[in-house]
Amino acid sequence: MRRECDVVVIGGGPGGLAAACSAKKSGAKSVVLLERDSLPGGILNQCIHDGFGLIRYHETFTGPEYAKHAIEEAEEAGVEILTSRHVRSISSDKTVTVYTKNGIEEYKAGSIVLATGCRERTRGNISIPGSRPAGVFTAGVAQNLINCRNVMVGKKVVILGSGDIGLIMARRLTLEGAEVLAVAEVMPEPTGLARNVTQCVYEYNIPLYVKTTVSKIIGKKRLEAVELSDVDDYMRVIPGTARRIECDTLILSVGLIPENEVAETVGVKLLSNNGTETDRFLQTDVEGIFSCGNSRHVMDLADYVSEQGELAGKNAVHYLKKEPFESWDEEKSNCMKKGFPEEGTVTCTVCPNGCQVKWDDKENCYIGNKCPRGAAFAEKERTSPVRTVTTTVKISGRNHELLPVRTSSPISKAYVFEVVNKLKEVEVSLPVHSGDIVQEIDLDNEKVEIISTVSKQ
Ligand SMILES: Cc1cc2nc3c(=O)[nH]c(=O)nc-3n(C[C@H](O)[C@H](O)[C@H](O)COP(=O)(O)OP(=O)(O)OC[C@H]3O[C@@H](n4cnc5c(N)ncnc54)[C@H](O)[C@@H]3O)c2cc1C
Ligand code: SF4
Repeated sequence: MRRECDVVVIGGGPGGLAAACSAKKSGAKSVVLLERDSLPGGILNQCIHDGFGLIRYHETFTGPEYAKHAIEEAEEAGVEILTSRHVRSISSDKTVTVYTKNGIEEYKAGSIVLATGCRERTRGNISIPGSRPAGVFTAGVAQNLINCRNVMVGKKVVILGSGDIGLIMARRLTLEGAEVLAVAEVMPEPTGLARNVTQCVYEYNIPLYVKTTVSKIIGKKRLEAVELSDVDDYMRVIPGTARRIECDTLILSVGLIPENEVAETVGVKLLSNNGTETDRFLQTDVEGIFSCGNSRHVMDLADYVSEQGELAGKNAVHYLKKEPFESWDEEKSNCMKKGFPEEGTVTCTVCPNGCQVKWDDKENCYIGNKCPRGAAFAEKERTSPVRTVTTTVKISGRNHELLPVRTSSPISKAYVFEVVNKLKEVEVSLPVHSGDIVQEIDLDNEKVEIISTVSKQ
């Protein structure tokens, strides 16, 4: 099968969905989005925690809820979303060759947007010495097993790496009943957002060691222990500092690598970190081929990925119409507070800036907040902190699938474990729609509604 279309977008994560939607809205007649998975949404589908969409939608969504909005927007704009399509290559005349279960398809495009995301660095990429037992996972694989496939990865866990995925998995594993013995970070500061250090690690009393690495993996069939060692300023292991930690699972959260095999088939120039090299209009060195999201440069927030995708989609249409391009502001996605929260402060989580807010006795008011919402947040944290609980429940008749759910509104922080534990006993029958109430839980004479965050047949 061979078709012609104005714009082809490769990858159906937030970058690709936004690019396709804006290409259609900018006047492209036919926009086809090709996704290799059976569902669009990209990595968002396994990120069941909340915190997405604060900039784009001014609300906090879970990953699947954010994906649902992006998919609906693209569909309403008239994008043709084609799933189970693995893009194999692009030729110099912009013909995109795709593998499907029914054979090969070809799409001849006027312009193309690459939005193929990234993959995780593995043990092989960082060369940890030791044996090769079972029980060593990358954080994204562990997340997929726990959140989507109903497979618990282990009971006693060490996490190497304090980027956002590592921090989020520390909380998730703890809520699922594992003991997270340590998060080890080779740098002098955590590399994730301060709000994740606070809400995923400090709040669960998980030990966080900086300037520390895993210097040895020990175990025959299954992991039995790891050695943690201090590192010097050049990240070299300091001899004599090794201490053994008995554990059955090691989670690696040691960085992401842009995924660009498809880009390479048409000769797009890549940077040393494997990201695509683009100009400020997001165009690669191959005219008419644009790149956005994590395959261009790994980004912290889906909101910025969507915004960048939107611009790539617009410029793909400007290219077709021979109109001037619009520029991407590289600085805009770098405003969030990363690393350790400042001592004695509250990290405001109302927006991703993560202001460090504290009470000032002299001024008799909160300081450090860039807007009044930070003071209100800090006061609520002091008097009656609340959290939205996000977790999964079982689905009747399906052993290897789970339904992601959340409380319909935030509940007292003190009840988070109780709600998660009660939900471990719950089984839901399909079909359900995103937003359906699937369970009610009694907490101190108060009913808490549990809603599904996806639609499932
Ligand atoms: C664990 C974790 C937690 C996160 N937490 C947050 C958070 O709380 N808030 C937030 O805002 N952001 C968060 N993020 C970041 C955000 O989710 C990502 O930055 C964003 O999803 C990246 O979007 P993308 O479209 O570039 O890539 P992806 O979402 O990875 O999408 C790429 C898509 O391309 C497809 N693809 C790749 N190659 C091909 C091919 N050859 N053919 C067809 N399709 C292909 C893939 O299947 C995939 O669907 C988190 C990320 C992770 C991993
Ligand atoms: S104080 Fe305002 S700007 Fe700062 S994180 Fe909170 S909401 Fe965002």
